[in-house]
Amino acid sequence: MLPQIVEIKYKPGKENNDADYMTRQDDQGRDDKDEWPRGTVTWDDEVIATACTRSKTKQQQQPLLPTNDTVVLNTPIATKASTKSIPAATTPIDLTHDRIRQAQEGDSNITTIVKQLTDGKKNDQFCFQDNILFRLIRKKGRGTLSKVAYLPNSLISTAMDAFHDHPLSGHFGTTRTFNKLKARYWWPQMRRAVEQHIRSCDKCARHNIRRTKEDGHLKNIQPPDDVFQIVHMDFWGPMTTSDDGNRYVLVLTDNLSKYVIAEAYPDCTAKTAAKFFVEKYILVHGAPERLITDNGTHFSNALMKTITQTTNIKHAFSASYHPQTNGQVERFNATFSAQLAKYCNKEKSDWDVFLQQVVNAYNTGIHATTGFAPYELAFGRKFRSPFDSTSPVVKLSRATDFYKYLQRSRKIIINAACENIRQQHHLSKQRYDTNRKDTTYDIGDLVYVKVCSNRHKLDERWLGPFEIIQRCGDQNYIVGEQGTTRTDRCHVSQLRQVVERHNVALLAN
Ligand SMILES: [Zn+2]
Repeated sequence: MLPQIVEIKYKPGKENNDADYMTRQDDQGRDDKDEWPRGTVTWDDEVIATACTRSKTKQQQQPLLPTNDTVVLNTPIATKASTKSIPAATTPIDLTHDRIRQAQEGDSNITTIVKQLTDGKKNDQFCFQDNILFRLIRKKGRGTLSKVAYLPNSLISTAMDAFHDHPLSGHFGTTRTFNKLKARYWWPQMRRAVEQHIRSCDKCARHNIRRTKEDGHLKNIQPPDDVFQIVHMDFWGPMTTSDDGNRYVLVLTDNLSKYVIAEAYPDCTAKTAAKFFVEKYILVHGAPERLITDNGTHFSNALMKTITQTTNIKHAFSASYHPQTNGQVERFNATFSAQLAKYCNKEKSDWDVFLQQVVNAYNTGIHATTGFAPYELAFGRKFRSPFDSTSPVVKLSRATDFYKYLQRSRKIIINAACENIRQQHHLSKQRYDTNRKDTTYDIGDLVYVKVCSNRHKLDERWLGPFEIIQRCGDQNYIVGEQGTTRTDRCHVSQLRQVVERHNVALLAN
């Protein structure tokens, strides 16, 4: 007997997280899964953007924190009416032969051809029937001729609205729209006009997934001179609550060695972040010169400010939702989520038990960017695994000799690692920059801004148009909503130029 479906229960997406919780981090807020290459971390000291971690935002729907007079635009709440509205379903679109005939009479290009034809001049591209000028189309391969009306300039916009913008036409892409129009009409430079019409379609710009790479070439980077000089810190999660009550992982990565320190915690508060940073990092490895984090409230707060100021650490913030900026941590996250998933139980409630093992495996494996194991680079010696055989003879060297030896070998491997990082970056940059526009905007340019958080499936992907108000550094801009004081700081990859809709008559001529 076949099993029967008795009832189908709807499980909201929020609860239905068993399947994807380990990998959720990887695609949060990103439509284009643009893989950022290894060793490409960049940050901008002056970028103090309003943001909170992607993960946290998604889970808690926490409002973004405004700083001073900055108000965040990057949420889909500010949906405003499209400036170029589509014709309502009730608007009759008149493209009847009568209308075309009438409009053709006012089009000088058409009347010229009609005159030639009626004067008896031979022209096998056109025919004049029922007082309408038709373009003759030869079907490929078959040699059969079909005829479609030559659409006068005055009706081109109407036709494109009908076959792209109209609710029945569904805002489809260039090829589909062009094919539909081509089956019925013809005009010079038709494809170009369709392309331009769609590029300048406000609805498409707001909703469509971008098929091209995000703008902005990779910035050139210089690796730091020493290990534990620049460190990155980020919260990862939330994960399924473990048996010990943990839901988040705080991850700290050293920029040069890629050495990772990670701890599981039940929350992602400012106090947890501060305690971790002091106890697990500063008290063990000393104060770094620079700490890079996102600008979430757990990192950007009075407590962290006190710690960094009293220990003389520069605290730099990454641009909102621009993962490349904090790429060190992001890269480890991608690796360790997959690793943890392999070890933990079916309920995924013991992931924190294996966290330190996974971190250790990462720290002692060769890192593709530096060419060294993070541990080796960080501590100047090889990691002795519990599985390594012990040396039969123990030779004790004098402490001063050993110190000299350690200094010398450290210098050698750090130089080699820096060279590897530079080389990797060069290769990555070449790959990353290929087929990618390095767009720069001028003050006053109009742009759409990518929605990076809290976006529901049917919400717009891009908001705007906004105006470029100020340029900060190479790739960051302050954009503002026209007519208001609302501004936000965005990386160039989060912006998309507003294409003006040209007069099609100019295009066709
Ligand atoms: Zn459209």
